[in-house]
Amino acid sequence: MRKFFLYIVTIVCLIFIIPFLLTAKFKEIETITYEEMEQPEFDKEPYNYGEYKQIKVVNSVDNITTEMNLDEYLLGVVSAEMPADYEIEALKAQAVVARTYTLYTITHNNDKHGEGVICTSSSCCQAWISKEERMEKWEEDERNNNWKKIEEAVYSTKGEVIEYEGQVIDAFFHANSGGKTEIPVNVWGGTNYPYLQTVETAGEEGYSQYSSEVELSKKEFEGLMKEKYKDFEIDWNEKNAISISEYTDGGRVKLIKIGNKNLSGVEVRSIFSLKSANFICKLEGDNIKFSVIGYGHGVGLSQTGADSMAKNGSNYKDIILHFYANVQIVSI
Ligand SMILES: [Zn+2]
Repeated sequence: MRKFFLYIVTIVCLIFIIPFLLTAKFKEIETITYEEMEQPEFDKEPYNYGEYKQIKVVNSVDNITTEMNLDEYLLGVVSAEMPADYEIEALKAQAVVARTYTLYTITHNNDKHGEGVICTSSSCCQAWISKEERMEKWEEDERNNNWKKIEEAVYSTKGEVIEYEGQVIDAFFHANSGGKTEIPVNVWGGTNYPYLQTVETAGEEGYSQYSSEVELSKKEFEGLMKEKYKDFEIDWNEKNAISISEYTDGGRVKLIKIGNKNLSGVEVRSIFSLKSANFICKLEGDNIKFSVIGYGHGVGLSQTGADSMAKNGSNYKDIILHFYANVQIVSI
């Protein structure tokens, strides 16, 4: 009889109490979605950018140059560069950064795109996608809402750019810093920029871009090294066949010895197509395994860092001032 009673109590618990506790817990962490928010009105009238009103964009796919209105171009950049399900404040930060990057490119035009000023390749300039193509790639039920968010990001920050001492900055950005951004000299050599410093951001580990792995056989590894250096040699029996000799302040590999070669972390990233220069390299049996943290060069704004900051209540200005040191956000 007692057993039967216990049995009944357990069933009651399972049916009523546990689901109640679970729902109560979920309710607590429920956040308001973009659709549920009261959306501000923003005016879509073209902003007067004076001489920067129009931009000539070279499509990297078909090489056709199209001239478009600056903010219209930025809708295509923001929607190509950042997932639309990121927080609106992160998208607004991306819009201001993209506008700044674009203006810097216009004013520092190096003629590398012929009659155009900027191209649509993310590895050369910044990504861009047409509205039609973008809409097609989104699920049907989220298209309109996503596009509204992109429009809000661009139009509610109309005219705003980032300046350092009165000059538009070279606003680098990347996907995931792995927790710490990098200074330009460690990536491209040359000189540093006072507004691009190493900064830390919490919460980047929660994104898929945070960690990745690349595994190769010894033969594949040697093949890729020899493509770059014909005289490359390595003795796998040697204890320090591969050893990292120096790290950057941003935690990336600065110098690494591989066999008879001393390379920079950036070079190793390029040879083995790693997502970043923040990696460790281990010999596992007959394979070499790279475990990589972060995605991209690590300089300037981290997109996942921006989204993580926005989730914790930062607005787009806080985000920009976090990733770029001693800058001002101004209307031009
Ligand atoms: Zn380009």
